[in-house]
Amino acid sequence: MSFQDKSIQCSDCGATFTFSAEEQEFFQSKGYTNEPKRCPSCREARKAQRSGSGNYGYRSRRQMFPAICAQCGKETEVPFEPREGRPVYCSDCYNKIKLSG
Ligand SMILES: [Zn+2]
Ligand SMILES: [Zn+2]
Repeated sequence: MSFQDKSIQCSDCGATFTFSAEEQEFFQSKGYTNEPKRCPSCREARKAQRSGSGNYGYRSRRQMFPAICAQCGKETEVPFEPREGRPVYCSDCYNKIKLSG
């Protein structure tokens, strides 16, 4: 059985790429039954996304709590849960207090 080069349209960027006879043979030898849906550059991009710094921004991000600055009344976020009776300051005021204190 011989393979022939095939033109496939990339489902990501819409570019037409060649699914070569060689690649088809390789795919079959691996037992893949589906044709590639994406052009090589989109495939690389997806691979990089998945393996690289993929799950950045999810759990690695510190949880922030909304708070009102006790000094200027501005809304701010603090990396700890604000407690009653304990003043919370925005970063501006915090720096001012720290410097003057
Ligand atoms: Zn593409
Ligand atoms: Zn403030």
